[in-house]
Amino acid sequence: MKLKTLEMTLQRLAGFSRPRPSLEQYQTPAPLAARLLYHALMKGDIEGKNVCDLGSGTGVLAIGAALLGAESVTGIEIDEKAVETARANADLLEADVEFIGADAKDPSLPDRVGPCDTVIMNPPFGAQKVHADRPFIDLALRLAPVTYGIFNAGSTQFVKAYTEGRGEIAERVGGSFPIKRTFAFHTKDVREIEVEILRLKRTP
Ligand code: SAH
Repeated sequence: MKLKTLEMTLQRLAGFSRPRPSLEQYQTPAPLAARLLYHALMKGDIEGKNVCDLGSGTGVLAIGAALLGAESVTGIEIDEKAVETARANADLLEADVEFIGADAKDPSLPDRVGPCDTVIMNPPFGAQKVHADRPFIDLALRLAPVTYGIFNAGSTQFVKAYTEGRGEIAERVGGSFPIKRTFAFHTKDVREIEVEILRLKRTP
């Protein structure tokens, strides 16, 4: 599937019906999701691989990975309503994804989910709850040797320091994330947030 086709296909997916600010529920826009997925595909980290999406929300990253030929895809999401939407989204595109309702902080998760080859994630940036992204990074490093994550621009130093001894940033791709007015505290109709896609490699 071409990048443009993937982008247009992901555009069809439903978003959060009632987004919850405390969980930082922002659906990754299709162009950014497609860019992350295509980049991972070109690196050989999607096709034929077992892929896990942490904080899968309405499923855009997980479903995209399935459409690009992942062997299996598991999405982990704390909000049951989002899990329902994600399942309906997967049905719409006939994508084979297992969505699990679970907290990324649950210590039994790695055993339940088993190891995967690649983690993809757009975790909470920690704008509402400080350090909300840390359990995602921890889980990602436990689950897979390679992770693609979307972070706030300027997070590289933090991620580098936080993962020291456990992993390294193998690559950094810039991007932007147009956020539509979602919550009452938003003052503009659309705000562009600069982000970076980091490819993390676990230290063997
Ligand atoms: N991956 C989706 C959603 C990104 S928003 C996308 O790219 O569109 C971040 C997601 O993380 C939200 O769906 C939120 O509900 C989920 N989340 C927040 N804290 C979580 C936790 N502790 N465990 C699992 N999911 C969590």
